[in-house]
Amino acid sequence: MSARNGQEEEDPAATAALPVRAAGTEEAGFAPAGAAAFYAEVALPVPLPDPLLYAVPPGWQGIAVPGVRARVRIGKRRLIGIVVGRRDEPPPGVAVRWLDAVLDREPVLGVDLLALARFTAEYYLAPLGEVLRSMLPADLEPWGDRRVWLTDGGALAPARDELESQVIEALREGGRITVSDLQARLGLPDLDPVLAGLEAAGRIAGEDTRASQGRSPRYVQAVELAPALAAAAGDRAARLAAAGRSVQGLAVVDYLADVGRPATAAEVMAAAGCSAGVVARLVSRGVLRRFTQVERLSLDRHRLPSRAAGPGSAVAAGMPSPPASSASFAPADPPFRLRPDQESAVAAVVDAIASRRFTPFLLHGMTGSGKTEVYLRAAAAALAHGRSAILLVPEIALVPALAREVLERFGERLAILHSGLGMGERNQEWERVRRGEAMVVLGPRSALFAPVADLGLLVVDEEQDPAYKQEITPRYHARDLALVRGRSAGAVTLLVSATPSLESRHNVERGKLGALELTARVGQGALPEGILVDLRQEEGVRRRPGDVHFSTRLRREIEVSLAADEQVILLRNRRGYAPMLLCRACGEAMRCPDCGLPRTYHRRARRLLCHYCGLAINAPEVCPVCLEPALEPIGAGTERVEEDFREIFPGVAVDVLDRDTTRRPGGLAAVLERFERGDTRVLIGTQMVSKGHHFPRVSLTAVLTADTYLSFPDFRAVERTYNLLTQVAGRAGRGDRPGRVVIQTFHPDHYAIQAALTGDDAAFLAEEMRFRRVFHYPPYTRMVQILVRDRKRERAQAGIQELADALVAHPLGRGVRLTGPAPAPFERLRGEWRFQLLARAASFRDLRRLLVEALPKNPPWDLTVDVDPQQLM
Ligand SMILES: [Zn+2]
Ligand SMILES: [Zn+2]
Repeated sequence: MSARNGQEEEDPAATAALPVRAAGTEEAGFAPAGAAAFYAEVALPVPLPDPLLYAVPPGWQGIAVPGVRARVRIGKRRLIGIVVGRRDEPPPGVAVRWLDAVLDREPVLGVDLLALARFTAEYYLAPLGEVLRSMLPADLEPWGDRRVWLTDGGALAPARDELESQVIEALREGGRITVSDLQARLGLPDLDPVLAGLEAAGRIAGEDTRASQGRSPRYVQAVELAPALAAAAGDRAARLAAAGRSVQGLAVVDYLADVGRPATAAEVMAAAGCSAGVVARLVSRGVLRRFTQVERLSLDRHRLPSRAAGPGSAVAAGMPSPPASSASFAPADPPFRLRPDQESAVAAVVDAIASRRFTPFLLHGMTGSGKTEVYLRAAAAALAHGRSAILLVPEIALVPALAREVLERFGERLAILHSGLGMGERNQEWERVRRGEAMVVLGPRSALFAPVADLGLLVVDEEQDPAYKQEITPRYHARDLALVRGRSAGAVTLLVSATPSLESRHNVERGKLGALELTARVGQGALPEGILVDLRQEEGVRRRPGDVHFSTRLRREIEVSLAADEQVILLRNRRGYAPMLLCRACGEAMRCPDCGLPRTYHRRARRLLCHYCGLAINAPEVCPVCLEPALEPIGAGTERVEEDFREIFPGVAVDVLDRDTTRRPGGLAAVLERFERGDTRVLIGTQMVSKGHHFPRVSLTAVLTADTYLSFPDFRAVERTYNLLTQVAGRAGRGDRPGRVVIQTFHPDHYAIQAALTGDDAAFLAEEMRFRRVFHYPPYTRMVQILVRDRKRERAQAGIQELADALVAHPLGRGVRLTGPAPAPFERLRGEWRFQLLARAASFRDLRRLLVEALPKNPPWDLTVDVDPQQLM
């Protein structure tokens, strides 16, 4: 039985009605007064502010505890919610329905996570039930459930009482069924006593449901020392004799003796630096015993390219790869010595973990300064103290090298949670975490809610990344919640970045975050050389402003790198062929009818695709309005840049990395791997290329237009531009020679571009902080975006005006700075008109109170309240 959280089980068209009705209702499912043992508060994934009350039948006291899932009725719908509290009496004068079923026999959410959910719901003004739903995998099996069946004897012996006979009859019909299932069949709440009696009498047998669930196992070859040798493993001469005087053979024997446990053949070969033949010889000599081991974790399972993949490997061909070679049993040794600045950062974090006091840090160091090594050692230290660690990254698929590293370091004790996993796989990883098998969790923002015990370390890598903000309800920010969870767990919260958010930098200034600085780059200290190309001076730019991607200088720099057999990364933050297909004859721009914005032309697919709502049509040959064959692509996306590149540099192997790549099966891993191996010389991509890849042979990175974000109507536009440019710059010259960065722009004097080019972080920070302070933007204020959407423009506009009036009229409105009402930057999206208000205040507490008191509970239009918004669209 599986429980799909929050999804309707039946009758999706039925309207939501409150289950609490006036007394005297005769409708089925209501509990007569006094019949219930107590009342459970159940938080449901519906847009209601408070949990609903349900009657709990006698005998369920031990089961309907906070943190378990329950199936209930709301109106005509059946929903699954979480029990969050209990009451002895219902409010006077209301009839309360019975709770239909309790799904778990132990809580899926512990006390700590329930508290975090409550905080999240209050802070982000989101319904508690929706917060709880987003904390759990969508299809979690019932927890703590057991499967029971009749033994041979049990089927024959007579029942001792009526209840036993019912149970036995149900098991005769049902075969192997879960206890929850049995309860549902019999309509009886608590069968534990009778089941215990039957089991003690040997009439039924049972097992944990988890024992029989999960994917079919994969197997790997493993070896161990033969028993005789294992007993004498301390004896050097015995080892030498066993190895037959072979140096590699001895290395294998030494390794197994040292680790004192079996190991996969792959692990042994890697450790001893030997071939499979050496291991096979030792097996045939009876020195080693070979056996098959169920593979627990592998890179393949997480669809990450394996380090050893050679040319023509399955991954490169887009095929599933064979079981990876690195299914290891234990953490490998850290690979190298730390620099002094890394060492003191590790020491500070490790001390804080040992102290068991909440300690928040910002670890700041440029790309290549070895931040990852610092937090991986901190995680190892947490484990050594018996505490767990959660490592958050913006997107796992983009950091295969990191995932590989973490897997090699923590092996069996690592759980990777990410969207690429199938439902069953995600459940299984979640289970391993809950059982304490996995104590290190790597994942995107939702991994923040992993049910680890005794959390000691929370890492938020690339903490400035907007991917940490969830853009649907509940609109939480994982970085900020990581601080909240860290506080309640007495853990270290370690924010990590080469370009920290201004919020975090501000928190360092105010002493709310401890500062850990890494000053040097690993290997050698040279910053890349910055080269600014002023596009205004470029020939031909006046004629076709959007079309210049390869300035004279950039072409020359690319030639230099290619001649030196080095690699090049080109950033163009726009996918598709051209942002617009324009009719030169009549001006038709082929806008999306739902969003009002030009659709992006994808030439290879011959489609016009709206990047905001995904609506696509076939690209026409002639203008659909005037019928002239005058359609012209305006501007350039990655696809067109690739085309231009192939024209200018014929015969040079080039690949594209963007969202379109990731949609092709195996596409992302294949592109990254080809580039890592050097099969492709040039990688063209969107901002995805700026994320945490490590390509030592890249000597040149170039930003084709630095101005894409600068003009965007968002107060973080400059910060984003600076971050992107700095990260791209960090990709060049990570090997043994300094790299070059080319930035092409129409705004060569802009402070963000200048600072990124020269690596003058302090200059950028001073100027940007001044701007934020003068114009009252975060981090100097707290901001909430209030958005009203409706298919009718007048209704949306009237709605936002109504809200603005209510906020201004409220006494607390005086301390709040209101901007708008105004059309949102994207006034129309997906067929809806959008109007917004930005509310800013120095104190979040007052701002929140104002919103709670002044905003309508059930408005006739769609209302979104986004606390600490990251994307103002
Ligand atoms: Zn036309
Ligand atoms: Zn659209």
